Amino acid sequence: APAHPSYKYFPETGEERFRSFMAVPLIVRGVTIGALVVQTRKARVFEQPEVGIFQTCAQLIAPVVINARLLSLVGQPDEQLERSSAELALHGIPVKRSDDSGAQHRNFELKGIGTSRGIAIGPVYHMANPLDIAHLDYAPSQDREREEEDLMRAILEARRGLDDNRESLEERFGPDFASVFQTHVQILEDKGFVSKLHDEVRVTGNALEALRNVLSAYNKTFARIEDPYFRDRMMDVEDVGRRVMEQLIGERHHTIPLVEGAIVVTDKLLPSHFARLELEKVSALVSEHGGQTSHGAIFARTLEIPAVMGVPGILEATRPGETAIVDGGEGSVFLSPDEGLIAEYGRAQQRYAIAVEHLDALRERPAETRDGRRITLSANCGLVSDLRLVERHGAEGIGLFRTEMLAFAHRGFPEEEEQRQLYQRVARFAAPDLVTFRTLDLGGDKDPGNLGISAEDNPQLGCRSIRLSLEHPESFRAQIRAILGASTTGNVRLLLPMISSLSELRRARSLIEESKAELDTAGVPFDADIRVGVMIEVPSAALLADVLAKECDFFSIGTNDLTQYTLAVDRGNEHVAHLYDPLHPAVLALIDHSARAGARAGIPVSLCGEMASNPLAVPILVGLGIEELSGTPAAVPIVKEIVHALEYGQSEADARRAHEASSADDVRAIGAARLREVGLLEHPDIGPWLASVIDKQERSA
Ligand code: PEP
Ligand code: MG
Repeated sequence: APAHPSYKYFPETGEERFRSFMAVPLIVRGVTIGALVVQTRKARVFEQPEVGIFQTCAQLIAPVVINARLLSLVGQPDEQLERSSAELALHGIPVKRSDDSGAQHRNFELKGIGTSRGIAIGPVYHMANPLDIAHLDYAPSQDREREEEDLMRAILEARRGLDDNRESLEERFGPDFASVFQTHVQILEDKGFVSKLHDEVRVTGNALEALRNVLSAYNKTFARIEDPYFRDRMMDVEDVGRRVMEQLIGERHHTIPLVEGAIVVTDKLLPSHFARLELEKVSALVSEHGGQTSHGAIFARTLEIPAVMGVPGILEATRPGETAIVDGGEGSVFLSPDEGLIAEYGRAQQRYAIAVEHLDALRERPAETRDGRRITLSANCGLVSDLRLVERHGAEGIGLFRTEMLAFAHRGFPEEEEQRQLYQRVARFAAPDLVTFRTLDLGGDKDPGNLGISAEDNPQLGCRSIRLSLEHPESFRAQIRAILGASTTGNVRLLLPMISSLSELRRARSLIEESKAELDTAGVPFDADIRVGVMIEVPSAALLADVLAKECDFFSIGTNDLTQYTLAVDRGNEHVAHLYDPLHPAVLALIDHSARAGARAGIPVSLCGEMASNPLAVPILVGLGIEELSGTPAAVPIVKEIVHALEYGQSEADARRAHEASSADDVRAIGAARLREVGLLEHPDIGPWLASVIDKQERSA
């Protein structure tokens, strides 16, 4: 090391004793906040694998260091704070200077949009009301010492709760993702935080007041940090405060924690909730807002959690803990049901489970029409826990892996190595079937909270998806390297979301080439011929499909967004949900145009929107020449039964007629007539459900 031109000797380090030197930077969001150094007395060379391990250590340690620095800011005397702030600013985290700041009845039924089939009976849990520490009614113990002890015990319990969360997260994302709760654990273990609470409770004799005071001190400090990412760390401190308080009053006042079989009621179901909720305890999801293809609805369907959305007044109408029945197929919620209703829905629940079992028993059969046209039925996934559903329902590979969940768990761009491990696990699971990893599709209604994108007036038309990725080329390349790194099994495809012009595709492809070169240089193996596809989900991409097809390897039609953008209807807004219709002839025309362009260019065309699981759409999509339908894992066996009953020639004729139809109702009538004609309404397992779908459609037409 001493021979290196950049070597600088600091006598206080005493490093003259050492002969070797290795340092890797600690990087948080592209800012170097320090370095991790190893030196040995003996002269030696550090081998590449050692450097790799060291880099991984640095990645893990960097957020811990930055959190510790932020936590240590609180409670410092002003002049010290100025110094620390300057130090943080030096590390790329500017801190504002202080002078800168300027009734219900039994069986009461509520209706909404049934977004995920299935029936649940359980106690209501209000997610919209996380403990509001600012307005909590709390009676401290008369005995100060007892109050102090209770608070300390609550901290311990909260710590234990975090460990449980960690475990469930591990299950969902894989063993390497528990670090999500690292910040929370670190706060609870932070001597400063705990001793400040201790001091405050001693003075006030009131645990809630102590928490409020400490949180407010932290808040003041964090509010002065300009960078939104770091400012948002305050959310973590508040979360921890809430956890402690929940333990405290849970102990004394028996507040209702998330119990087994809970029906979670919320204002709006967001994708981020899925990364935080203890899903294994959730039996159903109900929300005031949201529609059929809002991402909350999609995740609920994938996870097979019955869900009803867009239920006006549900939060007001329900009492936490009361029993409710949720029918996700019908879009009904019954409050305080009597025994008769519970028994009736209990039987329906059983019938549903039996039908699913029958269908799953046929999982090995390939999907083929009566006249021998093969259709690939794959699954849409986003969590490791979805993989078992892929297997259970007999999906042929993963047609769409939404990579956003990891970003929600981390509230930001995930680390490259964590991504690679996740993708590798998924690719190995799916092999030899294909898995299509879509690059991050954040923004719109998928905002992990700290990418600085939430302030847009029209987030669905804003810096979403590929636009966001191209604005953060470092993070984008890291994700591409992670996908490439997982591609050695040869079954991995890479999919670019929300492409709206050729220049975007070219820019993304050039970043992919750069990433390949980086891996080549580093000697990391990958599939050099990895197929790169484009999502057709913006009308401009559909209309430009011939041009795009020449420069990509496959198309995946995303009808959720294609419908939203073609019809100018927000997919998550229940007020306009009646206008949102993927079977609208205008949407069909764009699907048809894209499918033909794909066929002309000789590239495969799949469809991965929710429409792929819509029974009335399946005959028409098959007729339009779509070769792969990727949808909710649970829908795969149902779609398979439909495909089996069809004849390709007839479907082609249906598609031609649908193409000439003047309304979505006319298109649906064509689909319904075909299902009826091929005898599917008499199918023992799916017949009754198909009949009710058709009946509903005919009544509303
Ligand atoms: C789509 O838009 O159809 C799609 C599959 O992507 P997402 O639902 O994740 O936006
Ligand atoms: Mg989309």
